[in-house]
Amino acid sequence: MGAEHHKKEKISKIKASVKSGLENVYLAQEVRSGSIKALSQAITLTESIKSSDIEKAQAVLKELLPHTGNSVRIGISGVPGAGKSTFIEAFGCLLCEAGQKVAVLAVDPSSSVGQGSILGDKTRMNILSAQSNAFVRPSPSSGSLGGVGRSTRESILLCEAAGFDVIIVETVGVGQNETTVRGMVDVFVLLAVAGTGDELQGIKRGITELADIVLVNKADGDNKARAQAARQEIARAFHLQASRQSGWGPEVAVCSALKHTGLIEAWDVIQRYSLFTKTNGYFWTNRNEQLISWLHDLLKDHLWRRFNEHPQVNQAMGDTEQAVKKLELPANEAADRLLGLFLGRA
Ligand code: GDP
Repeated sequence: MGAEHHKKEKISKIKASVKSGLENVYLAQEVRSGSIKALSQAITLTESIKSSDIEKAQAVLKELLPHTGNSVRIGISGVPGAGKSTFIEAFGCLLCEAGQKVAVLAVDPSSSVGQGSILGDKTRMNILSAQSNAFVRPSPSSGSLGGVGRSTRESILLCEAAGFDVIIVETVGVGQNETTVRGMVDVFVLLAVAGTGDELQGIKRGITELADIVLVNKADGDNKARAQAARQEIARAFHLQASRQSGWGPEVAVCSALKHTGLIEAWDVIQRYSLFTKTNGYFWTNRNEQLISWLHDLLKDHLWRRFNEHPQVNQAMGDTEQAVKKLELPANEAADRLLGLFLGRA
C-alpha cells in the first residue's frame, strides 16, 4: 500500500513536471513567433517574486537564449520633464515607420521602493503603443526581485527573442539608476534641455562618463538658439574628457521631440556609434563584460539572501550588530564570526 502510494505520487510528480516543461517550451515558442501576449506573460514571470514563477521564467529564458542578441539596446536618460516620453514616442514611431520593431522598457527607481513612480503610472506613449511594430512595457511593479533593473535585463533578452530590432530602456536621471542601465545597453543617450542657466548646470553635471550621445531637446521656438549654445558648450566639455575604452568621442546634437526635428539625425548618430563599436570590437567586448557583471551581481544578491536566511546567522545578526555599534566588537571580527556560522565553522 505504502509502496503503491509512493509510486503514484512519483508518477504524478513526473506528469506535472512534463506538463510544466511543455508549458514553458510552448510559451517560449509563442514568444519566438512574436506574440505580444506571450511576451508580456514571459516578462511578468521575470518580474515575479514567486519561486515557481522564477523557475518558469528561467526555463523560458534558457529556451530563448540562443535567439537573443540581435538588437541595438539603447538607454535613454534625462531629468523628469526633459521630454523622454515625448522623444521616445516620436522617435519610436519614426523607426516603426521605417520598418523596425521597437520595444520600450522602463526602469523607474521609485517603483522598486514603493514611493510612487517618477516615470508615471499613467499609460504613456499611447501613439507608439498603438503601432503594430511596437511594444511598450511600463516599469516593473514594486514587488520586483532584486531592485532596479533585475528583471529589465531579462526583459531585453525576451524582446530580442520576440524579434525586436531596437530596444529602448528609459530611465530617470538619478545617479545609481543610470549606472545600472548603462550596464545593460549598447549605447547610452542623455536627453538634456537648455533653457535657464540652472538647467545648463544640470546638463553639465549630467555629462558623466556614461553618455555616448547627448541630445539637447526642445530646440524649437524661442529655445532654438539656447539649445545650439548648449550643444556647443557640452561638446566643449566632452572635448576635455579623457578618451574612452570604446574609442568613441561622444557626440552632441539638438532635437525637438515636439516638432519632430533632429530625430533622423539622432538615429544616424546611434547607427554610427553601433557601426564604429562593432568595427573596433568594443560592441561585443562590452556585451561580454555586461554578461559577466550580471553574473557577479546575481551571485552577490543570492549569496547575501542565503546568508541572511541562514538560521544561525539570522539569530546572531541582531546581537552582533549591537556589539559592533557599542564598539565591543570590531566589524571585521563580527563579519568573520557571522561567516563562520554561515560556513558551519563556528
Ligand atoms: P519626461 O518626464 O522626460 O518623460 O518628459 P515629457 O515627455 O513628459 O515632457 C515634459 C514636457 O515637456 C511636456 O509638457 C512636453 O510636451 C514637453 N516637451 C517634450 N519635448 C519637447 C520639445 O521638443 N519641445 C517643447 N517645446 N516641449 C517639449
